[in-house]
Amino acid sequence: MQGRQRVLVEIGLFAVLATAVATLFVLTGLRGAGLARSAGGAGPRVAAPARLAEDPAPVVPAGAAAAPTGPDLAGSATGVGPTSTPGARATAEATATATPPVDPRRVGIIAGHSPYDTGAVCPDGRREVDVTVDVAARVQALLEYRGFSVDILPEHDPDIPEPPLQNYRGAALVSIHADSCDIAGASGFKVASWRYSSTPELDQRLVDCLYDRYAAATLLPRHDESITIDMWNYYAFREIAVDTPAAIIELGFLLDDRAALDDLRYEMALGVADGIGCFLGGAEG
Ligand SMILES: [Zn+2]
Repeated sequence: MQGRQRVLVEIGLFAVLATAVATLFVLTGLRGAGLARSAGGAGPRVAAPARLAEDPAPVVPAGAAAAPTGPDLAGSATGVGPTSTPGARATAEATATATPPVDPRRVGIIAGHSPYDTGAVCPDGRREVDVTVDVAARVQALLEYRGFSVDILPEHDPDIPEPPLQNYRGAALVSIHADSCDIAGASGFKVASWRYSSTPELDQRLVDCLYDRYAAATLLPRHDESITIDMWNYYAFREIAVDTPAAIIELGFLLDDRAALDDLRYEMALGVADGIGCFLGGAEG
C-alpha cells in the first residue's frame, strides 16, 4: 500500500508540475499576443489625432486614451524590436496620444433646448427654443465673420452624457437660454458658470465679459437674484472637457422682456459675440 501511495503522490506532484509549466506557456503566449496586438493596434491610434484635430468632440477623452498606452509603448519598443521599427512607432504613438492644444479660435455655442425640448412656452405659443436657436445662429454668424470657428451644439437628455457635448473642447463655450414666461415683474438677464469648475478664474472672466458686453448691447438690467441651480450646476458644464471655459446666459424673461426677446435678437447676439470676443481677446471684461 505504501508503494502505491508513493506512486500516487509522485503522479500528483507531476500533475502539479505539468500544470505549472502549462500555465507558464499560456501566460507567455498571451503576453506575446498582447504585444503583437499592441503593435498591430498602432494604426488606429495613429489615425486618432487627425480625427481629434478635425472633430472638436472626440468620443474618447484624450486623457483616458493616453493613460493606458504608456505600458503598451514600452512593450512594443522593447519586446517587438526585431520584427518592427519600435522607435518610429513609439514616437508616432506618443504623438498620437498627446492631448492636442485647444484651438484658440474654436467656440462652442449651445442653442438652448434645441433639439431636445422646447424650454419655456408662453400661453400664446412663443417658445424659448425658437429664441435661442435664432440668437445662436446670429452669434455664429458674427463670430465666424470675425474669424472664429463656431460649433452649434445640441442639448440632449441631461441624464445621458453623450457626444458632441461630452468632452467638447474649445476656447470657450456659451449656452444660450431665455427665462420663463410666468414670472410677472421680472426683467433682465444673468450669466453663470459652473460652481465646481476646475478653472473658476477663467470661467469668471468669461462671465464678466458677457455681463459687460451684453448689457452694453441690449441695455437690459442684470437679474442675478434669479440665478438657480439649473444654471450654476448646468449639466453641460459637467460633460465638456475640463479645460474649456464655459458660461450659461439667460437672455431675458419671456414675459416682461418679451419685446426685447422678439425684436432685439441682433443686439442680444452682438452682446454674446462681443462678450466672447472680450474673453478670447484677453480683455478683462
Ligand atoms: Zn432654458
